[in-house]
Amino acid sequence: MHHDRLNEIYLDNNATTPVLEDAVKAAQDAMQTVYGNPSSTHVTGLRARYILDSTRDLAKEVVGAGRGNIIFLSGATEGIQTAIFSALIEIKRKISQQGNENYRYLLYGATEHKAVPNSLKHWNDILEIGAELVSIPVDNDGKLDYDFIEKHLSKTAMICTMAVNNETGVAQDLGALETLIRTHNASVPWMVDCVQALGKFELELAKTTIDYAPFSGHKIYAPKGIGMLYTREGAPLTPFIAGGGQESGLRSGTENLPGVAAFGAILKHINETECQLFKSHEVLAGFRNKIVETLKLAFPGIVFNMPFETSVPTTINFSVKDFPSKEILDLFDAAQIRVSSGSACSSGVTRSYVLDEMGLPAWQSESAIRMSFGPAVTEQEIDDACERILLASQALTQSCLMLNNLGVDIDSPRQEGLIQLKSGSACTWIYADSQSESMVVIDPVEELGERIEKFVHCQGYRVKAIVDTHSHADHESCRPMLQKLLQSQLSYDLKDYDELGWPMVSTQNVTLSDGQSVSAIQLSNNLVLAKLETPGHTSDSQSLLLGQSVDSQLKAEDVRFAFVGDTILIGGLGRTNFVSSSTSKMYDSLQTLCSVIGQSTLMCPSHDYNNEFATTVYAEEAGNALLHEVKSHLVEKSHFVKQKESLDKRLNDQVGHEILCGVVGKQCDSEGIHVMPEELQHFLKSHPQIRVLDVREAHEFHLFNDWDSLNLERAPENVPLSRLANFIGNNICSGDSEKQELLFVCRSGSRSAKVAETFRRLGFENARHISGGVALNCVACD
Ligand code: PLP
Repeated sequence: MHHDRLNEIYLDNNATTPVLEDAVKAAQDAMQTVYGNPSSTHVTGLRARYILDSTRDLAKEVVGAGRGNIIFLSGATEGIQTAIFSALIEIKRKISQQGNENYRYLLYGATEHKAVPNSLKHWNDILEIGAELVSIPVDNDGKLDYDFIEKHLSKTAMICTMAVNNETGVAQDLGALETLIRTHNASVPWMVDCVQALGKFELELAKTTIDYAPFSGHKIYAPKGIGMLYTREGAPLTPFIAGGGQESGLRSGTENLPGVAAFGAILKHINETECQLFKSHEVLAGFRNKIVETLKLAFPGIVFNMPFETSVPTTINFSVKDFPSKEILDLFDAAQIRVSSGSACSSGVTRSYVLDEMGLPAWQSESAIRMSFGPAVTEQEIDDACERILLASQALTQSCLMLNNLGVDIDSPRQEGLIQLKSGSACTWIYADSQSESMVVIDPVEELGERIEKFVHCQGYRVKAIVDTHSHADHESCRPMLQKLLQSQLSYDLKDYDELGWPMVSTQNVTLSDGQSVSAIQLSNNLVLAKLETPGHTSDSQSLLLGQSVDSQLKAEDVRFAFVGDTILIGGLGRTNFVSSSTSKMYDSLQTLCSVIGQSTLMCPSHDYNNEFATTVYAEEAGNALLHEVKSHLVEKSHFVKQKESLDKRLNDQVGHEILCGVVGKQCDSEGIHVMPEELQHFLKSHPQIRVLDVREAHEFHLFNDWDSLNLERAPENVPLSRLANFIGNNICSGDSEKQELLFVCRSGSRSAKVAETFRRLGFENARHISGGVALNCVACD
């Protein structure tokens, strides 16, 4: 762990570590004082050679290499490559003599670092070995399946396993594995990836039959670009890089002496018997315990994704129910705690292949967070981390997103206006009206059920309606569950609502701009939510219009938000090829809808496939010729039906796990929206009136708002993504959208770019964002 001037708490040591002071010093000496080439025979060269040789001896001692060999190379990926390449060249030779019967499989653990299976595949193809790559399953605890290994061993060309997993910290029992392997195959080459084991427990490699063991400097406080490979005495080794014959001809290229020297400084620490710097297993386990207990208090819905007994104490992998990894990562990043999430990204959701292979539930994989500290961590750093974790949890509680176990009363500010919650592309909309202390919930998505319930309870408003815009084909509505859970806060009886949740009592009628009279719920004074039938996408599709009624009239220009379900999507129209769809009814619905809402009414669909938040008829017409033609009566119904049918044919039923509810096109135009880090200060000076808006969630904003470090004179306003539609709704009606100068900022520049694009699409021609976000624009951190 490491504190810098920004006071960050670095808990991502399995990704890479900071370089320890004496390793920096050793590298610096090797660059400035002992800068010779170890191959030179003069005194300067001999001194450099001494560093190389003595570090190799030390490395051998640390890993217990015995009569085996250590070569220095660029890192573990090169070590893995060299080992696999060497073993497979030897296998190729054997196959040419004996045939391939005994060399059918290349076995590797299912949770290996990707460098392993990818190298196996690469060299298997290039060397034309023709073996089958077989991944060894693991159980829920990440332990390799011994029966599976046993079944394959006699016909295995090479087996690759890992000592400690980088995502979970799970350690394999190498002794038991060795017995298994050698009982069934005395000669199969065995590589053990020891990257995450070095410095965490003792290795006595020569006492084992492990043939190859790669290591990496940057995972244990040495710099990037230095690693080493242990090879057992007699294990085949073919130079992977040929050239000037360095490393006894086994790895050519002038040695990275600064790297070797720095690695040497770390190896010294590991080798100290009374090691002060690197803590013992017991001490580290105590540290882990402290963090785990704090996490449990901070996040009641937490589960840990690895067994504590068989994992190294420096890695904690956990998931918090209802919080995808990205949200916790953003939260921690704002609290200046650096952690990491799962690696792969499928349909916009980050997930962990390691946890998937362990058979953990999908939500745990999608919510996985890894915290990893190094063995040189101090107690003070652990205590600071715990303090920050509690702060982060309080911020979430304040946002009404979670209730922690801390037993402190936290005041949550009352929310006013529109709130957008998302799960994948599916949107739930909540409108909170502080005047009448009531709210409506529209299209509650099942995955968001608990979050919605917590939010409503925490805000303490009466719920006037929980309603769906249609029966959804792609996801479940959690309306029935919410209606039960929120019963005490519902302003109507559970019996009195229709199939989509519209209350059948306490409603009134309002007249829309086209003259039709529809049912409406009153929030405060004249604020109403009116229900307009808009069949087409499904036969039961309806749109909900929120606005100020005057004398029971809800005029088009007074409709602020239109919850249009899947009738109009951002950049497209909802599909009409379901059994209950009707394309011709959609034609009528579109015309009706466009005539009862205004040019600046914000349309809030139930899907947002491209992170575009909300839209207007005006913006849609610009990008959707068909909608424009329908609205302006330029296309006849029969013609519309034909065109729409051919559009829907292009729709792939399923993309990833999602059923698409309509054809949408991306309309983003990002030209001119970026304010680059090097131009920010000048830009701010030349735009003194600009409104700077931070689009991170409120809890992130409250945790990190050190605007001095960005040289911003005033603190930005906070407009979280979940409140963006509300902000647009409030600002678009002022009619001068194109003049408003807006500058968005977030953590990395990715959310703010999306927001700026949305604003541009909606006619805010002077919307921009700070490229690189808070992360790259912090002038105080240079
Ligand atoms: N193996 C494991 C277990 C790792 O954690 C890593 C780094 O992420 C590697 C291999 C690759 O190491 P390097 O970055 O030195 O190539």
